[in-house]
Amino acid sequence: LKTRILVSACLMGQPVRYDGRYATKGPDQLIQLQKDGRVILLCPETAAGLPIPRPSAEINNDQVVTEDGQDLTQAFVLGAHKALELCQKHGISLAILKENSPSCGSNFIYDGSFSGKKINGAGKVTELLKANGIRVFSEIEIDKALKLL
Ligand code: SF4
Repeated sequence: LKTRILVSACLMGQPVRYDGRYATKGPDQLIQLQKDGRVILLCPETAAGLPIPRPSAEINNDQVVTEDGQDLTQAFVLGAHKALELCQKHGISLAILKENSPSCGSNFIYDGSFSGKKINGAGKVTELLKANGIRVFSEIEIDKALKLL
């Protein structure tokens, strides 16, 4: 059986981001893996029922909030659990997720001030996957990640 990986849907051309756009059309290495049936795509936020488009959200003191103060933590945590369930269902132990997102970020997230400032940190999905032994890399670490496949 070929090992599969979890990939943020917005990295593969799906227009699921808060602003209704995608992040990248799909890096070549991942498109090749996708052709081989080894890529499982997920947008945890839309899987949790959040709409497209939706207000942008940032992590502040462990809570996920919008700029006008709406607390979306519950939906983001639900999205993280959906990602974990999907990994467990497909025996996935490696994920490539979109950097800087309050769900998918793995090295950086925005600092909660909605001023565009990033800090070291991880999103809700990354935190939960890592706590369950799944290795998470960002889209700029694809080559490093795929060496582990
Ligand atoms: Fe992309 Fe993840 Fe945000 Fe969905 S939750 S738009 S997959 S970064």
